[in-house]
Amino acid sequence: MADRHSIDEYLETIYFLAFPIGEYTPKGAGSPPLASRVAEMLGVSRASAGEMLKRLEAEGLIERGAKKEALLTATGRARAERVVRKHRLIERLLTDFMGYTGAEAHVHADELGDTFSDEMIDRIDVKLGHPERCPHGWPVDPDVEQAENAELAPLAALAAGTSATIVRLAEHDGELLHWFYANGLVPGQELVVTAAEPAADQFTVTLGTDGERAISEKAAAGLFVRPSSA
Ligand SMILES: [Zn+2]
Repeated sequence: MADRHSIDEYLETIYFLAFPIGEYTPKGAGSPPLASRVAEMLGVSRASAGEMLKRLEAEGLIERGAKKEALLTATGRARAERVVRKHRLIERLLTDFMGYTGAEAHVHADELGDTFSDEMIDRIDVKLGHPERCPHGWPVDPDVEQAENAELAPLAALAAGTSATIVRLAEHDGELLHWFYANGLVPGQELVVTAAEPAADQFTVTLGTDGERAISEKAAAGLFVRPSSA
């Protein structure tokens, strides 16, 4: 059966895995882009992802590393950066211009990825006034994104007692993204980690005056925060 994901969606996933966020990452971002990890993120079989990675390799977009990980070539990286910039601008078109919520925007943006040419994307960028980030906090400019990665950490890497501000939300899991919004876990939200027990798959945070939230490790690995300097 053919994989329903496009080459661009694969590049987007490999790009996400290739640029780790924070110094150490328990799960999620930062794992080497192995076929198994790519398959898990896209929700496809390992075999299906393996086939597609072969295609990307044949097209000169990736090379295989020592552990068979998928490494972006210069061509692959340039295309991946175009793809993520396009995705983030389309999301802003959906929220700012068409009135979709942040939770809805990601899936629709995936559907529209091939609709707009690069020139149209530049026009959308101008019309929207050069937005700096997508609705989920990811910088539109990949250089800004990569430079900022070192300043952020997944919530799952923080110790109890740490204060932080949510900067970006993982987008690859649509249901998880909806859960973040339903629970007020959105970019700009300040929080304090009150309990961090990865062994029990349990994190607890307080959101200012908005009460406490229990967060699973999977969700905590998809919340990218800026820890406050004490
Ligand atoms: Zn987004």
